[in-house]
Amino acid sequence: MKRRLHFSHWQCTSCGRKYQRDEVTYLCPTCSIDYKPGMPLPGVLEAYLDYPALAQELDFADYRNLSLKDFVQRFTVLESRHFPPLPVGETPFFPVRRLLPELRNLWIKNDSLLPSGSFKDRASVMMVAEARRLGISKIACASTGNAASSLAALCASCGIQAVIFAPASAPAAKLTQIKAHGAELHAVDGTYDDAFKAALEYSVAEGCLNRNTAYHPLTIEGKKSSGLEIFWQNGFKVPDWIIVPVGDGVILAGIHKAFADLKRTGLIEKLPRLLAVQAESSDAISSYWESGVYRDALKPQTVADSISVKTPSNAHWAVRTLKETNGAAIRVSDEAISEAQIKLAAQCGIFAEPSSAATLAGLEAALEQGIIKPEEQVVLLITGHGLKDISSFKV
Ligand SMILES: *Cc1c(COP(=O)(O)O)cnc(C)c1O
Ligand SMILES: [Zn+2]
Repeated sequence: MKRRLHFSHWQCTSCGRKYQRDEVTYLCPTCSIDYKPGMPLPGVLEAYLDYPALAQELDFADYRNLSLKDFVQRFTVLESRHFPPLPVGETPFFPVRRLLPELRNLWIKNDSLLPSGSFKDRASVMMVAEARRLGISKIACASTGNAASSLAALCASCGIQAVIFAPASAPAAKLTQIKAHGAELHAVDGTYDDAFKAALEYSVAEGCLNRNTAYHPLTIEGKKSSGLEIFWQNGFKVPDWIIVPVGDGVILAGIHKAFADLKRTGLIEKLPRLLAVQAESSDAISSYWESGVYRDALKPQTVADSISVKTPSNAHWAVRTLKETNGAAIRVSDEAISEAQIKLAAQCGIFAEPSSAATLAGLEAALEQGIIKPEEQVVLLITGHGLKDISSFKV
């Protein structure tokens, strides 16, 4: 069925300037004029919808009767005909009782069951759809592994060329996925932050689309679908807490955007509180949140490769989500992550990669510190599959 899009415009999260759909591609041109790789991205753009029109349509459709897919689609900013054939979304949301018996209302959203095994598919599917809309046949991307394997899979499903810049140290399974899907892999002798820069240079030189996280606004916008699904699957109720593993802070912003859209549409009044969980050594967003002053992570080195980031691209928006949701940030050690990984596997059948298990470690710390109360409804966001990095399991 053909449906009207409710996309209105892009708005700069720094200066508030508005741009029409095809007036800009990446960052706010005014705010990013002095941008150089190696700093959090300035002028990240946020998609605004025509909220009154959307509210009217949802009301008319009696939104509580819509299917999950139909409900989420109403909020999308891209025409459905551009989407690749590989379906992304509708992952399970379910209560877990054995994990922490003192928590009566603990739930899991298992996004490790997306096609390439990570949350990144929610952004990649949008970037591939955007490339198809614009008639672009190649997309470049920097990644610690998951964004790349995800882009590679979605590109493969519709014949677009993915060009990947990843640190040579990425887990073997992720590099295998990238190659199996036929992507062009440039192993970068350096860190993720070096790969970020290399991918930017490449896409400028080649004139192709760039999927670096937070750089293209659809990478954030795409990730909101998980939050919208949680709302539908939770019986149109807002959980008290959603616990999110944080590297660049794009998943965090995506979840925030979902509930911001629901609020702007008048479907909810209160946002869920967001708990950002970071590895101790990769804590740039946590320290920014606590001190109000940005600094890089000093020496990111963690078993949780997917959240190992020195300079988080989306640091500014990430901190704003914590302010606006009355959220919190927490650091967890590699030991706590590994223990949580085993607990998730052995006590609820969830085989998660370390970054995702960090959410459980973060929950335990937040309970201990009294940030989260046992009677509250808590959602753990499981973002990546354990099979992507079996060498990290301390079994
Ligand atoms: C990318 C990723 C994260 C962190 O997301 P950011 O947007 O970088 O904060 C967490 N878990 C997994 C499995 C990921 O791939
Ligand atoms: Zn701006």
